[in-house]
Amino acid sequence: MTDRYAVIGNPVAHSKSPLIHAEFARQTGHDISYEAILAPLDGFRAAVLEFRDAGGKGLNVTLPFKHEAWSLVGAHEGYARDAGAVNTIDMRDSRMVGLNTDGVGLVRDIRHNLGCPIRGRRVLLMGAGGASYGVIEPLLREQPLELVVANRTPEKAVVLVAHFEKFQSFAPEGLVARSYVELRGRRFDILINATSAGLSDAMPPLPDAVFAPGALAYDLVYGKRTPFLEFAGARGARTADGTGMLVEQAAESFFIWRGARPDTAPVIALLKKT
Ligand code: NAP
Repeated sequence: MTDRYAVIGNPVAHSKSPLIHAEFARQTGHDISYEAILAPLDGFRAAVLEFRDAGGKGLNVTLPFKHEAWSLVGAHEGYARDAGAVNTIDMRDSRMVGLNTDGVGLVRDIRHNLGCPIRGRRVLLMGAGGASYGVIEPLLREQPLELVVANRTPEKAVVLVAHFEKFQSFAPEGLVARSYVELRGRRFDILINATSAGLSDAMPPLPDAVFAPGALAYDLVYGKRTPFLEFAGARGARTADGTGMLVEQAAESFFIWRGARPDTAPVIALLKKT
């Protein structure tokens, strides 16, 4: 029997997840269906339970429901425990287990697809929203030399850093919160834009000389050349958008559900063409 999966969000029509999982299913020969479910802003819980009661096997969760999903599921595994956000629900024996594959996706894209080691590098993470909560522990476990978190509302960066304090020792020179102004005179090897600024053609107020020689500038926003990537490219940095992360986090969800690892490279190439 065909196993049912879906991505749930609001809005959700733009989601590339159905295309990605259809490619994974074709590659691996798994008999699954994968749809997009638009949940009303006040109707996430009801939509999830309806899907589960109809025999659904798993969900990806997107904006704005990742925090609500964390509260809804009965158990958390892996990075979801501390992230406080869930992007993958595994409906095992009608039990709901919440996981977060965003950070795994980001790290895999940076390290394996882009060939950029994180260990021993100076890393700047911009943003203190749901995406930053999802990626910070996996980033720290890569043992960067330091991880600096900057946010437009600086207090939120302070709260984020405090929340993940127990992982501080993974970064020998520290996990710290800074305002953008405080970045003057600092240079980073890997700069990750986990803000939504690019969606409105804006960018965080970075100082000019923030890119170390050979730096990688990574924007989680995908499918467009954001002002941050333009700014970084004009200052000699290597640039990447979030397409690879999107496909890698989907591959990790597919592995959790199906126990099979799809080949992500052709799917990333396909998405970059569309
Ligand atoms: P969120 O919870 O709404 O947080 C948005 C963050 O962006 C906040 O830190 C906010 O700062 C900051 N921000 C917004 N506009 C800004 C601006 N003009 N200048 C500076 N900072 C600004 O969103 P999220 O869930 O963290 O998602 C962030 C982005 O990541 C979204 O665009 C999402 O599409 C993308 N994402 C991509 C993937 C992928 O697979 N590629 C996965 C997850 C998320 P304040 O705190 O000051 O408001």
